[in-house]
Amino acid sequence: MDRPTKDPTVDALTVQVLDFPTDEPEADGTASWSATTMVLVQARSGTASGIGWTYGAAGAASVVHDLLADCVVGRSAWDVPAANEAMTRALRNAGRPGVGGYALSAVDIALWDLKARLLQLPLADVLGRARPDVPVYGSGGFTTYDDARLEGQLRAWAEDRRIPRVKIKIGESWGGCEHRDLARVELARETVGPDVELYVDANGGYRVAQAIRLGHRMARDLDVRWFEEPCSSDDLPGLARVRDALDTEVAAGEYGFTLPYFAAMAPVVDCLQADATRCGGITVWLRAAAVAEAHGLQLSGHCAPHVHAHAACAIPNLRHLEWFHDHVRIESALFDGFLDPTGGALRPGHDGSPGLGLTLRHDVLERHRRSGT
Ligand SMILES: [Mg+2]
Repeated sequence: MDRPTKDPTVDALTVQVLDFPTDEPEADGTASWSATTMVLVQARSGTASGIGWTYGAAGAASVVHDLLADCVVGRSAWDVPAANEAMTRALRNAGRPGVGGYALSAVDIALWDLKARLLQLPLADVLGRARPDVPVYGSGGFTTYDDARLEGQLRAWAEDRRIPRVKIKIGESWGGCEHRDLARVELARETVGPDVELYVDANGGYRVAQAIRLGHRMARDLDVRWFEEPCSSDDLPGLARVRDALDTEVAAGEYGFTLPYFAAMAPVVDCLQADATRCGGITVWLRAAAVAEAHGLQLSGHCAPHVHAHAACAIPNLRHLEWFHDHVRIESALFDGFLDPTGGALRPGHDGSPGLGLTLRHDVLERHRRSGT
């Protein structure tokens, strides 16, 4: 059935690629990088504009242009799930997982922001709140950091911001630097003291038996509470072995693009993770939360904290969001309306700002915009 013609429609989509150099060289267990690429989508309806983004390959911008824009422009601005479904179908032959998922996610997020702006409500109120605030954990602790840098970053979260949860990267060089990994986790525990939850993320760098051996030591000696991607997240039997062997919670899910992926992973983790900038935007992230809930699990939002903050208010089984160093740096530079994590929780929409509550700083956008986009 057609919607009444008085509904506002999506009039245009624009997409730009932005490059942000890191503040110093960064690496985790299995990758290194010196810049972060953002694909930024703006969806317009009349004089209102919504913003959405993903952190991924610049090719996602071409997918938006070539395959997704026509699915969205001309639709009712209210019916975001219908637009999401149309985009999903349009990606069938190009691939919904991977770059297609990043592109779809950025558009979906822009459409939710647009709808809430048209309604002049914070997005958390459009979705409906299940909670007043959103816990976060400080995340960074790259394997490239020296001790002073690691200690300084951890103190900034735990002491200056009073965030009671922090995470560092381990699994350096595909698990080839065990002694340095353990020394860094020990330094992290000494730095934040006994009362801050300490998390580690191996980004799939360890073998299964290696992860179990190190996981026991980190739990026993250093009270590590969260072991993320101890082995490859593609190895579901391996994740199950690690989870069954350890008291530490095992978490994974950041590379999930579809609900069947999350449903398959849920039985082998203690906490499911999902990234709204990859899995299909806010529309699918909320459904991933339902998949987790059906398995008796909480959901943790992966990276891009200002994408997740409002949606996180809408789910009862939220664990927390990742206050990720790179993305916090980018989002604080690019947007006015940046959220304050002091005390360890965000309060999205508390000031009544519509949508995601963010305003683009065009001078920063122009400085980082890749030419030709
Ligand atoms: Mg991770």
